[in-house]
Amino acid sequence: MTITDARTDVVAAVPKRLFIDGAWTDAASGSTFAVADPATGRELCEIADAGPDDGRRALEAAVAAQEGWAATAPRARSEILRRAHEIILARTEELALLMTLEMGKPLDQARGEVAYAAEFFRWFSEEAVRIDGGYAPTPDGANRIVVMRQPVGPCLLITPWNFPLAMGTRKIGPAVAAGCTMVLKPAPQTPLSSLALAGILAEAGLPAGVLNVVTTSDAAAVIEPLLRGGRVRKLSFTGSTQVGRILLAQCADTVVRTSMELGGNAPFIVFDDADLDVAVDGAMAAKMRNMGEACTAANRMFVHRSVADEFAARFAERMAGLTVGPGTEPGTDVGPLIDAAGRGKVEELVADAVARDAKVLTGGTTPEGSGYFYPPTVLTDVARDSALMSTEIFGPVAAITTFEDEDDVVRVANDTDWGLVGYVFTRDLDRAIRVSERLEVGMVGLNTGLVSNPAAPFGGVKQSGLGREGGRVGIEEFLEYKYLAVPVRAAK
Ligand code: NAP
Repeated sequence: MTITDARTDVVAAVPKRLFIDGAWTDAASGSTFAVADPATGRELCEIADAGPDDGRRALEAAVAAQEGWAATAPRARSEILRRAHEIILARTEELALLMTLEMGKPLDQARGEVAYAAEFFRWFSEEAVRIDGGYAPTPDGANRIVVMRQPVGPCLLITPWNFPLAMGTRKIGPAVAAGCTMVLKPAPQTPLSSLALAGILAEAGLPAGVLNVVTTSDAAAVIEPLLRGGRVRKLSFTGSTQVGRILLAQCADTVVRTSMELGGNAPFIVFDDADLDVAVDGAMAAKMRNMGEACTAANRMFVHRSVADEFAARFAERMAGLTVGPGTEPGTDVGPLIDAAGRGKVEELVADAVARDAKVLTGGTTPEGSGYFYPPTVLTDVARDSALMSTEIFGPVAAITTFEDEDDVVRVANDTDWGLVGYVFTRDLDRAIRVSERLEVGMVGLNTGLVSNPAAPFGGVKQSGLGREGGRVGIEEFLEYKYLAVPVRAAK
């Protein structure tokens, strides 16, 4: 089979409709919107464009299914996730190609995301059967405190386009395990992976109404009435800090519980005692995973003055050696950015840095032709007041600046509203612990450029978010406490 046939087949295999109450259905208005391939800018397909009535219908299905689903045996919920994990892995090639077509990342990175996404289902299938409670006497001995854990209830899950499958499974996994029903609204650029996932979960035995998927080109019109309507019990959002703030305000009115996985502005710090081989490998991973379109991407690189030239030269050589092209082409390291707006923002940030005397070691020029490609770019001597030091770049652009003093670099690294992740490269254990403790972030990559792992609590502090996904705490976000006061009287 040629890649063209395979491409047509994987897109054709996905239902292009809303998934409500276990059935594929058109939008009430009959409207559709286009999904495009960022490597060409050409349309891949049209999918159903939900309006507010479709959103309400999806939430009604989730509300109706909630009580029955909460009463389902934990082992049954666990087995559904386990089966879905296996189906996803068995379909790695189809899912990876689908993701590459709608999002742009190279196929081998898409395969990596399929494995990462599936692992959330395996992890939460194991957590589903470990939900426990508590039993304790009150301090005066007169009562017993019995604590139970219950699902929070119908949830609204909103995901971004950059990890189309994993951002879905990271939320659906714990919600299913905890016994919650849900409405998922994926990003309009990458709805196909979510629709394929809904099909897989149905195949794995998820009952009708537990997961509903609503694709729309007008998120605000569909989501706001749901959040203000009083029936959503929890919002789990991954996306930009800007949109997160809007949704938090909407949730305030009806006191909807929230988890917020928002943007980042990660500092990447290389001390003079770092192993530069390790630091350059770490920089490649932290900058180039997903073409730099990751909340965890190294956004500001601070390199000790004494090693800055060597680090920059070695890193720039590796960056210049990467192959840019369509994610479906064998040998591609760097796919296109998601759309014209995403690339335009990267171009503006580079132009601003260069206007402030940054030097371009490699890249920096947008190629001719179709698709939203941008070359791996390394900038040095970046002025600290450049826009890209305080803006998520979300592209393959590394901004290097130097420092001399540990206190100074920690102060500058923390001088941001965000606090998702930081990277520290040093061989000095005392310094490693000291700096990790002082960084105002939710995660630290210590001599590594990769922190994401389904078994670890992922999330940020400050305006990078609220709550954690994955790890032992991931399921907690979908559970409530209920306590029973039980007096125990003395025998008569
Ligand atoms: P975004 O613009 O904030 O959109 C995220 C999702 O929210 C999309 O589904 C979007 O749909 C929806 N949305 C936007 N406005 C809305 C509104 N008023 N009401 C309801 N939904 C609304 O973010 P993005 O560009 O897709 O993703 C990139 C951002 O996500 C970056 O900031 C990145 O750092 C962050 N991110 C964070 C994590 C993490 O774990 N912390 C992980 C991945 C990505 P529409 O596009 O249709 O508006």
